[in-house]
Amino acid sequence: MIDLFGGSPESHTLDDDFDVQFLDTTLRDGEQAPGVSLTPEEKARIARQLDSAGVDVIEAGSACTGAGEREAIRRVTSLDLSATVTSFCRGIRHDIDQALDCGVDGINLVVPASDRHVTDKVDTSHRENVAATAELVEYATDHGLWVEVIGEDGSRADLDYLEQLMAAALDAGADRVCYADTVGHATPDHTYDCVATLAELGPTSTHTHDDLGLAVTNVMASLSAGADLVHGTVNGIGERAGNVALEEVAIALDHGYGVETLDLSQVYDLAQLVANATDVSLAPNKAVVGENAFTHESGIHTDGTLKDEAMYEPYPPEKVGRKRRLAFGKHAGRAGVEAALAEHDVEVTDEQLGEVVSRVKKLGERDKRVTDADLLTIAEDVTDADRERRVKLLDLTAVSGVNPPTASIRLSVDGEERENAATGSGPVDAAMNATVDALRHKADATLESYHVDAITGGTDAVVTVEVEMSRDDQTVSVSASDSDITHASVSAMVDAMDRLIEADQVAAD
Ligand SMILES: [Zn+2]
Repeated sequence: MIDLFGGSPESHTLDDDFDVQFLDTTLRDGEQAPGVSLTPEEKARIARQLDSAGVDVIEAGSACTGAGEREAIRRVTSLDLSATVTSFCRGIRHDIDQALDCGVDGINLVVPASDRHVTDKVDTSHRENVAATAELVEYATDHGLWVEVIGEDGSRADLDYLEQLMAAALDAGADRVCYADTVGHATPDHTYDCVATLAELGPTSTHTHDDLGLAVTNVMASLSAGADLVHGTVNGIGERAGNVALEEVAIALDHGYGVETLDLSQVYDLAQLVANATDVSLAPNKAVVGENAFTHESGIHTDGTLKDEAMYEPYPPEKVGRKRRLAFGKHAGRAGVEAALAEHDVEVTDEQLGEVVSRVKKLGERDKRVTDADLLTIAEDVTDADRERRVKLLDLTAVSGVNPPTASIRLSVDGEERENAATGSGPVDAAMNATVDALRHKADATLESYHVDAITGGTDAVVTVEVEMSRDDQTVSVSASDSDITHASVSAMVDAMDRLIEADQVAAD
């Protein structure tokens, strides 16, 4: 039997009076994700944006890690943010000294809670651990620090012992205690029981991981049991399956219970900033911030969405700083395609519409998703319209006999000429680099994929280069053919940039 909330009649009602605070640990637990390492500059940028989005506490790192990490924490503490800035500390006095040295407002003091950690990892006794914890809390509070004590592996600890340990921490002056499901092991009912016990003692935080896919659910159970501060990371990055994603908790609280936490309109920018800085890309189906979260493709859904925007959406994309996308594949229907074209002020005859739909379906059958920008390319081709281009390629020279290979280009951007030269690993690379650089201030676009097909045999073959580029929420694939591969590559890229700028303009209107 699932006794979800411990059968407790006293569970806390989540409503708009409920005050929930967020502690973001992207810069500490998030950075512990495999392969992630952030520079002080990146940490500062993320911290600034977290603060602007309304995160209450920012765990900036772990001061004991080394000089580089302390430098990064100092960068964050020197930003003068509204958020409380903390460092993670092990149950060692020296760690607290190092945190103090970074100028933090507080610490997240982690002490062993489960038998595994108390006896096997730290090799102490239960009684000594309680005494040492109280002493460290006193030391930290004496130095003016805000202190949250985290019972490591709390979800696998003996609950009576966890209660005793956390009570001692609060008695010693800790500001709050934290229930930690360090290995993402707990079910919601177990979480509820543990948090309800700790919340009787004093202010309680909750720290959940997603190993069972229960991170958000366990946060909800924690809040219902009396927790009032949620630890999490942007995009849910973190060790193993990651931490709970703060944007998911924020939207669930807002949409489901009317509880306000973060400035939701900023979460998408934040997600992209963190994805870029950490190189941990977002799964397309990720809630709130994934590429497909507000994209409608199937013909039936597209038609429904055109009749009523809420038909297939729980909340509008603008709420989280995003835009709705209609994408087309093999299920594309006439109504959806016509509406998408109309949105871009493209008029087509019935016959042309039929041709556009058939081309879209053909691409869809090759597993290609057709975006708004792709659709414009196809429509232009079909209607033979002479589109006014904002970015035009005027001239291109690439030299491959020199080391390193060099290329120079001349572009016209909104009627203004721009020249640029760059080097690369080969002439194509050099030319692409020169192009991206020349357009950087206009469009910070990313080359997602690059593909070359030779249409005919022989060394004079005409090649088709297909580039896929993205910028914010928009992706576009453009192909260009030429017997000169460098020229085809740059043409495709320039055209893609032009379309991204155009699409953005239309979306903004
Ligand atoms: Zn953790």
